[in-house]
Amino acid sequence: MSKERILVTGAGGFIGHHLVKRLKRDGFWLRGVDIKTPEYEPSDADEFSILDLRLRSSCFNATRKIDQIYNLAADMGGIGYISSAHASISHNNTLINTHMLENARIRGVSRFLFSSSACVYAQSRQQAPDVAPLREEDAHPADPEKGYGWEKLWAEQLCQYYREDYGIDTRIVRFHNVYGPLGTYEGGKEKAPAAISRKVALLDEGDEIEIWGDGQQTRSFMYVDDCVEGLIRLMASDYVDPLNLGTEEVISIDGLVDLVSKVAGKNLIKRHDVGKPQGVRGRNSDNTRLRHVLGWEPSTSLEQGLAVTYDWIQSELSKAGRVLSNLAYRAHA
Ligand code: NAD
Repeated sequence: MSKERILVTGAGGFIGHHLVKRLKRDGFWLRGVDIKTPEYEPSDADEFSILDLRLRSSCFNATRKIDQIYNLAADMGGIGYISSAHASISHNNTLINTHMLENARIRGVSRFLFSSSACVYAQSRQQAPDVAPLREEDAHPADPEKGYGWEKLWAEQLCQYYREDYGIDTRIVRFHNVYGPLGTYEGGKEKAPAAISRKVALLDEGDEIEIWGDGQQTRSFMYVDDCVEGLIRLMASDYVDPLNLGTEEVISIDGLVDLVSKVAGKNLIKRHDVGKPQGVRGRNSDNTRLRHVLGWEPSTSLEQGLAVTYDWIQSELSKAGRVLSNLAYRAHA
């Protein structure tokens, strides 16, 4: 069993927490770092440090005696959040990624995985709901999402330069909308599947549900277990260029609401608020290269993944006394 020492930054966050659990089960020694501990259960990391990675000294501390880094720490959230804080998101994430890479170099870390995003893709290619799936080369010429997309694209470049100039073995993954249990579901940083699950759980049969935008905008969504599997496979591969990690199961936001409502067993009336941010009009992943490079792709269907996610959010709300338990709801309905 491998005794490699792994650092996961952002280990107090959604994907980082799931990744730590999985790597620990696989027998690795883990250090988790974040500005907060995981929200819903304790971390499985062997060591967990609260550090602000915008500071160079924190990155120096975090990278001691480490072989591999999964750099997931980032100031991020759903479309409402990332479209309202361009300057602070760019500032915070640029500092985190710059100091993490430089300290990985100083410490002689062998492998460094950077978590990029589908937000790096040119906006001009995402203007219709029936968008052509995005291939890795579609990120250039650059026209990414303001703020968050630009800083991710820049950090991808920085990884490439550190690899070329200093020989750090970098990996770059572009996530497409990850969802699942143990993720933020309210407070402003939650993403669409969690926000919709929360709204549906809090509503009764026949109520109105508020949807951001006209509901025709499309996305694909990846279940978190598939995300973690893909991350580990990419880290173990020898592929150094950016790689999509998502599903090709594209769906409109109205369709997503219908699916969550079906899982919940509720009929709801949709009310669209076109004044709210909705991001690009359409976005889907082209997994041709993912299949070629990893010989694998995510397999959890959206309906399966949403069922688990909805049940978890519903049970969190029920523990807080805000809704009936699932069992009680079904008995009452
Ligand atoms: P998350 O917000 O749950 O996790 C990010 C973590 O980074 C948080 O726990 C946060 O506290 C931590 N962090 C922020 N600033 C920090 C700082 N200064 N020092 C230390 N830690 C800090 O988000 P997530 O969904 O787990 O995303 C993980 C990574 O994947 C991020 O880089 C994100 O940009 C990227 N990503 C995620 C998605 C998605 O759908 N979830 C999509 C595209 C890209």
